[in-house]
Amino acid sequence: MAYVITDNCVACGTCQAVCPTGAISEGDIYSIDPDTCIDCGTCAENCPNEAIIPGE
Ligand code: SF4
Repeated sequence: MAYVITDNCVACGTCQAVCPTGAISEGDIYSIDPDTCIDCGTCAENCPNEAIIPGE
């Protein structure tokens, strides 16, 4: 399952810069394309606000 970005997101852009597949899109809250995400967890490890969690 793809990772998901929660309401804790402050749109800092950290995750987008580290995602190896370009799965993350900008927005008021950033979002992850589930078809592009490979579940590596890099974004969650780097998020300063712990806004990214594994999908269910
Ligand atoms: Fe990108 Fe990996 Fe995060 Fe998926 S888990 S959005 S592939 S950094």
